[in-house]
Amino acid sequence: MTVIDLVSYEDALASFDPVMGLEVHVELGTATKMFCGCSTALGAEPNSQTCPVCLGLPGALPVVNATGVESAVRIGLALHCEIARWCRFARKNYFYPDMPKNFQTSQYDEPIAFNGHLDVQLEDGEVFRVEIERAHMEEDTGKSTHVGGATGRIHGASHSLLDYNRAGIPLIEIVTKPIVGAGERAPEVARAYVAELRELIRSLGVSEARMEMGQMRCDVNLSLRPHGREKFGTRSETKNVNSLRSVERAVRFEIQRHAGVLSSGGTIVQETRHFHEEDGSTTSGRVKEEAEDYRYFPEPDLVPVAPDPAWVEELRASLPEPPRVRRNRLREEWGLTAHEMQSVLNAGALDPIVATIGAGADQAAARKWWLGELARRANEQGVDLIALPITPVQVARVAELVAEGTLNDKLARQVIEGVLAGEGEPDEVVAGRGLAIVSDDGALGTAVDEAIAANPAIADKVRGGKVAAAGALVGAVMKATRGQADAARARELILERLGVQG
Ligand SMILES: [Zn+2]
Repeated sequence: MTVIDLVSYEDALASFDPVMGLEVHVELGTATKMFCGCSTALGAEPNSQTCPVCLGLPGALPVVNATGVESAVRIGLALHCEIARWCRFARKNYFYPDMPKNFQTSQYDEPIAFNGHLDVQLEDGEVFRVEIERAHMEEDTGKSTHVGGATGRIHGASHSLLDYNRAGIPLIEIVTKPIVGAGERAPEVARAYVAELRELIRSLGVSEARMEMGQMRCDVNLSLRPHGREKFGTRSETKNVNSLRSVERAVRFEIQRHAGVLSSGGTIVQETRHFHEEDGSTTSGRVKEEAEDYRYFPEPDLVPVAPDPAWVEELRASLPEPPRVRRNRLREEWGLTAHEMQSVLNAGALDPIVATIGAGADQAAARKWWLGELARRANEQGVDLIALPITPVQVARVAELVAEGTLNDKLARQVIEGVLAGEGEPDEVVAGRGLAIVSDDGALGTAVDEAIAANPAIADKVRGGKVAAAGALVGAVMKATRGQADAARARELILERLGVQG
């Protein structure tokens, strides 16, 4: 193992400007593959979702998935790209066992979308524009599983298994132009860009873009150049980084590693590198091929794609509000500070809150339940908020029961617990667990009378004018009713019984 000399982040930035290039692959959520009718559903038996086309058998002819093209155009439009009037697929030739055709059907010099940009908002509110070089269509490869080794990598494995269910699933690759001028904020810009792109993809409904499931993955290109120099340095490409935090760490690590090599008079090798979650480091992969090594040529088995300009304009007109614009609008409508909005976003609570408000809850209540009790439970279980088995409609109902006085917060938390435990709708949990607040004067009156009888000294104090002492009697009522009494009504009844004005 090579020893890597890292330079401190501050020292690296004192001498060099980082230049980044981010390549993001997104798996589209189409029902079928890009060039055949095979299902894209996850979790099927290995090699059960294959056919002669995606297995590359001789004589099989591919046909383009129209929904895949539509998704690509919509992504291009949302990224403010120009859309090609006419473009072709290309064969990218290389051998790899998980690619049965011995070439990947991709696009080369004729991408479907090009010359766009995405504005990303940094934590302090500053907006940084990332220029987009291109977005092109291609297909995913199969999946290799290396068996017998300790690390799951091919080294040390006794044999490898191949599953071609993923081979041919549509991908969009989105490539930025060189990102310059980010300086010390390069890691933050990289993270913010991938986060914004993920939001954009989700808002378009073309993919769930779940990085932990490999539906979205980022290759991080990085090079350094001394301050004041125009020419870019040699870049490294860290492949398949699959979380926002890892993107940020990979950029940071590579800045420090490049600076270490360059400062000691060494040269950077153009290569691909692997990122390691455990310690945030990268290690050498293979020496990077140049484009000419792939012998790209236009795919002869597919007709060119020529989107009708009128259709493209229709798609443009139907684009949803961009996520950044939507976030800023909601922040204003809800009257939140930037910090409060950031908490909502960090918790992944924006869409659940919007949906809960849509189901009738007020904003403050929706935010309180999703950021409080539900975030706590999601955190305990180590899952995303949206993975909790409770719907915005159910949360809105809980909030409504609190607003109308049927539940207090403590009881509402028990209702949420019941819903999460599969006990049914909020009203069923209230009935099943007997959780509604006791506010009818009959049942409450009995509890009040008992509390007064059991605490004569306190009752005398209240009668003598120490109204504050009534709190202890309210406490006794709450205890006797296991927290289900309407505390305000109990206090009124106590003061009434003791002949005192509240
Ligand atoms: Zn197929």
